[in-house]
Amino acid sequence: MTTDLSIAYEDVVQAHQRLDGIAHRTPVMRSRTADERCGANLFFKCETLQHIGAFKIRGAYNAIAQFTPHQREGGVVTFSSGNHGQAIARAAQLLGVRAVVVMPLDAPAMKVAATEGYGGEVVRYDRYAEDPSQIVAAIAEERGMTFIPPFDHPHVMAGQGTAAKELFEEVGPLDMIVTPLGGGGLLSGTAVAARHFAPGCDIVGVEPEAGNDGQQSLAKGEIVRIATPVTIADAAQSRSLGRHTFPVLQQLGARVVTVTDDQLVDTMAFMAARMKLVVEPTGCLAAAAVFHGAVAVRGLRVGIVLSGGNIDLARFAKLIGS
Ligand SMILES: *Cc1c(COP(=O)(O)O)cnc(C)c1O
Repeated sequence: MTTDLSIAYEDVVQAHQRLDGIAHRTPVMRSRTADERCGANLFFKCETLQHIGAFKIRGAYNAIAQFTPHQREGGVVTFSSGNHGQAIARAAQLLGVRAVVVMPLDAPAMKVAATEGYGGEVVRYDRYAEDPSQIVAAIAEERGMTFIPPFDHPHVMAGQGTAAKELFEEVGPLDMIVTPLGGGGLLSGTAVAARHFAPGCDIVGVEPEAGNDGQQSLAKGEIVRIATPVTIADAAQSRSLGRHTFPVLQQLGARVVTVTDDQLVDTMAFMAARMKLVVEPTGCLAAAAVFHGAVAVRGLRVGIVLSGGNIDLARFAKLIGS
């Protein structure tokens, strides 16, 4: 089929080998209540229970593990609203590499503390006024560090695809696989794995309604940029897909739907009450789309990636209580 994409299934396989003994093979949960609510067979891949509380350790580790000795000596730098920063800091710590993480001033306190806890150095910026990529470029230049972006990098994308690979290996073919969509690292890796295991699988990314740049991009056939969206889904506030992720999504036939913040909150409550899972707002995007009818799932076998569970308990309680 297509050969000019940034990643192929073989890259996901190799990433999975690198991650052996590093990333958890996270559980796949079922819920009869959820199945009855939707009239479908739902398989929840619980990356909430992954190291660092989100799938991002997969891509970060896969990227840093492929550094040259020279790159390892210089260290790694990135920007992130949280989970990728934690993942880079933790992966760098595991590999004995220095890490700098550029984070927005309003990033959740827990995510900042966790990044520092893994030995990462945090540099703050104003995400509504400054361009993090310029800050990162300056640090990379001055300190000889290698930039690993949150999503638009083949090694990151291949690493993220290992979650879907595990899901298919465990449950067999699926009619549909649904994941949250920010910049498309998770969805592009998922798409590559899905096409391998179930060529006819419907591949769906879910964005917050306030920031549907991915949906616009696939409709228009080119990358659409938007202003930083205001949404509780803080890990999906990216302003555009990437030059590596977009072609993969486009050529492998992924599609995008959206959900509202209210639907995310409803889903967080369902996950906590019915499935005993703490899922952060962004981590609920895919489940919210399934529960609230943004995709038609009746009678189907559907994989749902619960992408992360990093949220301050106070904020969780406030959102659920409102
Ligand atoms: C990063 C992240 C996403 C979005 O992933 P992309 O690869 O940017 O599309 C979704 N959920 C959580 C919890 C994340 O940390």
